[in-house]
Amino acid sequence: MNASVWIDQQVSLSPPLTAVPREADVVIIGGGYTGLHAARELARRGRQVAVLEQGRIGDGASGLNFGSAALGVAAPYSSLAKCYGPDFARATAALSTRVLKDFCEFITKEQIKCDLQKTGHLTIALNQRQLNQLARAKRTLDELGDNELVLFSRSNVKEHLDIDSARGGLFNPNSYAINPITYLQGLIKLALRAGAGVFEETKVQEISRLGDELFEVRCDKNTLRSKHVIVCTNGVPLRGFKPSERGIVPINSYLIATEILSDTDAKAISQMVFSTAHLVPSYFRITPDNRLLFGSRKNLAAEPSPSRDTRELVARMHALLPFTRDLKITHSWSGKLGFTFDRLPHVGVADGIHYAMGYCGKGIPWSAFCGIAVANLVADGVTPEQPVAMPVMQRWFYNGSRTFLHPLSWYCRLVDSLS
Ligand SMILES: Cc1cc2nc3c(=O)[nH]c(=O)nc-3n(C[C@H](O)[C@H](O)[C@H](O)COP(=O)(O)OP(=O)(O)OC[C@H]3O[C@@H](n4cnc5c(N)ncnc54)[C@H](O)[C@@H]3O)c2cc1C
Repeated sequence: MNASVWIDQQVSLSPPLTAVPREADVVIIGGGYTGLHAARELARRGRQVAVLEQGRIGDGASGLNFGSAALGVAAPYSSLAKCYGPDFARATAALSTRVLKDFCEFITKEQIKCDLQKTGHLTIALNQRQLNQLARAKRTLDELGDNELVLFSRSNVKEHLDIDSARGGLFNPNSYAINPITYLQGLIKLALRAGAGVFEETKVQEISRLGDELFEVRCDKNTLRSKHVIVCTNGVPLRGFKPSERGIVPINSYLIATEILSDTDAKAISQMVFSTAHLVPSYFRITPDNRLLFGSRKNLAAEPSPSRDTRELVARMHALLPFTRDLKITHSWSGKLGFTFDRLPHVGVADGIHYAMGYCGKGIPWSAFCGIAVANLVADGVTPEQPVAMPVMQRWFYNGSRTFLHPLSWYCRLVDSLS
């Protein structure tokens, strides 16, 4: 059962088998959404591009995620306003709206068949504290100009989700769901059609700078020379590259899928995307083939253990959604999110090496924007917009070891257990 529900869809992701070239204009490390967007953009402009993927395409978060394309960044706008000023928070909110709109337009224009659906997103509050917090979030967003959000009463929630524990919720109509794997398949086709080379089972071990615009990229079986290197490894930090190694904290996220729901069970939940207002939220939705998909981040510091993780996730799902108690679990899997200390995505260059990463669970729309932004930076020197242009934040206590997550995880669990 340790496999994602998406791989059952018989989707072919593998590029044609060809030899890894010895030279390229641009080497892109990582064959997920970011790497493929960047590859397509650069290949369209005539650059010779080689995308190197250590495993198979789809092994990273892009092949394993929950499929919700939502507004916003992981950092709350109130914190951004406090740290960087209200103009910065307003610019981030405005950019996030554009990022989501561009993402949907891209899928429509390129005719990618990935079940793009405007679902709306309902965050549910399970106690008064969470309800107050949602009301505050709405006020902040109203002030920033996003006044589409609607506060839901207990009975409004009940119309969409048949549970008694919710005290209310916050509904954002501007939110979408996709099938992550068919979206990935569409992207590979576009990148290959534009002329990019995509190479699986090619793990990058080391990047050396040989000159101003000359790098040597050493992989386990081959070595390439290229003018530019772009790191798109998100939740799998690249050793030796500081913004990734010291600025990206990998956090495992877990998902389960149930058997196809009966018509009676399906009536208990509408087609929205749902999440709880916990510090470490649970999130769930119905897939187009009528399964319930349920996910959470659980213990932030723990390494995956399939049987324990499934057990804990199922217990959490039963407690929150009692109507799921008799449903069989058919799939269970996990993948790595790439968290940053400022909870913002980043595009930039360090030691001559370009990068785009740090989506903190919001990567479906942001990876498209950041992949294209890093391509523009490489091709034309176009500086990305704020907030993504800030350098990746590094902390003295983080050098790749995630032990600091243990106390953070305990704190989150304590606060959330009070709910
Ligand atoms: C369980 C889960 C649920 C999620 N749900 C959502 C969601 O609902 N909405 C949302 O917006 N986001 C979600 N995300 C996050 C989203 O999937 C990611 O932000 C996004 O896919 C990142 O894309 P990427 O291309 O940057 O990274 P990835 O897809 O992770 O790709 C990076 C690739 O780099 C490769 N790589 C790493 N090191 C090397 C190396 N040394 N050499 C060669 N290749 C290397 C990896 O194998 C990997 O394939 C979720 C993530 C997970 C794990």
